[in-house]
Amino acid sequence: LMQLSIPLNFIGFVYREIRQGLTDIEAMVDLIDVAPEVQDKPGAPALSVAHGSVTFEDVHFHYDPDREILKGVSFTVPAGATVAIVGPSGAGKSTISRLLFRFYDVTGGRILIDGQDLREVTQASLRAAIGIVPQDTVLFNDTIGYNIRYGRPSASEAEVEAAARSAQIAHFVEGLPKRYQTEVGERGLKLSGGEKQRVAIARTILKAPPILILDEATSALDTRTEQEIQSALDRVAENRTALVIAHRLSTVVDADEILVLDGGRIVERGRHGDLVALGGLYAEMWERQREAQEAGSIEIPDPPIR
Ligand code: ATP
Repeated sequence: LMQLSIPLNFIGFVYREIRQGLTDIEAMVDLIDVAPEVQDKPGAPALSVAHGSVTFEDVHFHYDPDREILKGVSFTVPAGATVAIVGPSGAGKSTISRLLFRFYDVTGGRILIDGQDLREVTQASLRAAIGIVPQDTVLFNDTIGYNIRYGRPSASEAEVEAAARSAQIAHFVEGLPKRYQTEVGERGLKLSGGEKQRVAIARTILKAPPILILDEATSALDTRTEQEIQSALDRVAENRTALVIAHRLSTVVDADEILVLDGGRIVERGRHGDLVALGGLYAEMWERQREAQEAGSIEIPDPPIR
């Protein structure tokens, strides 16, 4: 990888270049490392994924030394399981996903994948093992087919179409006059947030990583779109280890474990039914979401400030 060896004055140029055609965080990080303090150890081996279990052990993290963001977070996502993280804005949910992708190194504790500390393996192998479906997917200014195939450039036409079907976007694409050759982006067809997210899901299905990070959109979607995206996400998460930054009811209800994060700590954990019965922060969030849903919104609103 050319990262780290790119002279600083070249980064601005590269950045402008890739902004032209770029897309998501994941691709961006492949090209320029946003956190130069994260480095491969000399002679680091590749991550070897057997089952894909993810463990956070007493993880502490700060962006600025005078403000700790994660204050001792421990959890395990067993291989093939789905763990959802919920909590108020600023609780540290996205920070957890950034640490798993190793945008930053932890400041205390450790993160393991199948027993291997992320800092002991190459970043390239780590990032090949993890697929991210970001909240706001930015697509390449190219065709829909190109955007899907980006997940695995060697994929055949039939594989691209199968991924589109699993992601519930094929029906839409195949109704367009130029189908997979349809240009999207600034000069092409403008896709809705839900359509873009399904393209990102199709791309991730093609990449077929053992571990997934799903950052659900907070923006309100209509019920049908929400159901389509949910069923696409269910398929991509099937038999994979998934960490979901959850904003929607449907994901949370089915998760194997829900972590309620507040102020950088896990304050409650368990399955949906247990947490509702507990009558704490989660139960409060759930109740408020139910009210909001009845009023026509499907977001999980922030819990009251305490
Ligand atoms: P939301 O639900 O609003 O997305 P979140 O729970 O995902 O919130 P994070 O994005 O993890 O929260 O942010 C946690 C805290 O870390 C916030 O207070 C935020 O201001 C701070 N933070 C996030 N990124 C940075 C950064 N690059 N530098 C400094 N502070 C940051």
